[in-house]
Amino acid sequence: MNSPFVQKRKEGVPPQDIPAATVDPMVEKILGMPEENFLKIEPVKEVQTAPRKGMFTARACDECGEMTFVNKMRLTAAGKTVCIPCSGEAE
Ligand SMILES: [Zn+2]
Repeated sequence: MNSPFVQKRKEGVPPQDIPAATVDPMVEKILGMPEENFLKIEPVKEVQTAPRKGMFTARACDECGEMTFVNKMRLTAAGKTVCIPCSGEAE
């Protein structure tokens, strides 16, 4: 949580505007990690799902700037369109 990336995000810089020099070492670290350090691998299980239309429209949260699919955004009483964490709602 003290990484330069998180500091920039706290300052309101959108993730896509953070320089590659800051992001790439984090990506390289994850790519070089053993899978069991960041994945929970279990047997495949079948889940029934209803077909839904794909969502391909995203916009930046008015509070934190995170790019968010519009169907997951919430409208605040103040008229801002925000991501779920910024809305204060649970998932
Ligand atoms: Zn947000």
